[in-house]
Amino acid sequence: MTDSTIKGYYDALAQGKLIGRKCGQCGEVTFPPTTACGSCGSYEQEQVELSGKGKMLYVSHGMAPPPNPRFNDLAPYAYGHIQLEENVYVQAIITGVSIDPETLKGFFEAGPVDVVPDILEVQGLNVLAFKQA
Ligand SMILES: [Zn+2]
Repeated sequence: MTDSTIKGYYDALAQGKLIGRKCGQCGEVTFPPTTACGSCGSYEQEQVELSGKGKMLYVSHGMAPPPNPRFNDLAPYAYGHIQLEENVYVQAIITGVSIDPETLKGFFEAGPVDVVPDILEVQGLNVLAFKQA
């Protein structure tokens, strides 16, 4: 992956936009963007802006922060599996969701819920997160 691909991804996050790459061979969207298609490996891709609309299929929680010290203040946090409209699956922090067992059980019983991006800024780094739509 080139620096410009990474920079483009994070710059777009700062504006609340999700940038991926659509494959010219198989048509699948790779997100976050990489130099080769995540489905067939082709380098023939073009940049696309995703809608940001998705469904949270599952939500759990993390008690320990991610390894980098810059994330120490994030924990504990809700963490979800999301299917984006473009048929891309991502895992991300879910904002605005309490991590108590009853709340998480409620999401499990209710089934998928609509989510939209809610980008976090953590010590100068934009982090992909979602919230209920
Ligand atoms: Zn492909």
